Amino acid sequence: MILLLLGPPGVGKGTQADLIAQHYALTTCSTGNMLREEISRNTELGAAVKQYLEKGVLVPDSQLFTLVEHFLAEHMNGGLLFDGFPRNVNQARVFETLLNNIDLKLDMAIDLHLSENDIVERLAHRRYCSKCGRTYNLITNPPKENELCDTCHIALMRRTDDTENVIRRRMEIYTQETYPLITYYTSQGKYHQISAQGTKQEIFARITNIINGNKA
Ligand code: AMP
Repeated sequence: MILLLLGPPGVGKGTQADLIAQHYALTTCSTGNMLREEISRNTELGAAVKQYLEKGVLVPDSQLFTLVEHFLAEHMNGGLLFDGFPRNVNQARVFETLLNNIDLKLDMAIDLHLSENDIVERLAHRRYCSKCGRTYNLITNPPKENELCDTCHIALMRRTDDTENVIRRRMEIYTQETYPLITYYTSQGKYHQISAQGTKQEIFARITNIINGNKA
């Protein structure tokens, strides 16, 4: 099974990606996490993409394709979950070709939907673990101990692109670049929108309903 998660920044994709991947034994490809890891390891790619992440704009498509191609080469034999890729129609087209080349195809695109006010509120409370990449929300998905990762037990961080200006920019980019993917995947009969309102378990239950309904 190959799934992708769509939705604006702060809608809870990372949290749901963890739950979905665990439940259906999928390997997650989170391009945002991969890029942040390249930056924290100070790699050549990390140095090249840092400025884009800091500004909240999209990294050039070609850099993403290299990452995704490597990921596919390593994980093509199991179920996959894409979180944050593709982010525009060009990436979606190339993604389809990359999958076709290895006899795979996308099963469904699940779009998490939330109002803009709720998104801003969620982003203010978002934290992540710089070691394992796990994401938390201090209100809706808090760690067991105050601001410490449940797995790594180190202090949680706030993303440098979660400031108000950068958030606004990322929302604009989402509307301009990523929104057209709704039409793209609807025309392929693969698009499913769900409400990202409620607890993480409620949202996850909506997602499993869709996935199980499609598998049947
Ligand atoms: P995310 O963690 O998914 O919110 O991504 C954080 C940042 O990484 C984005 O604001 C972009 O700068 C970059 N990024 C992640 N995925 C992509 C993608 N598919 N295309 C271009 N840039 C991306």
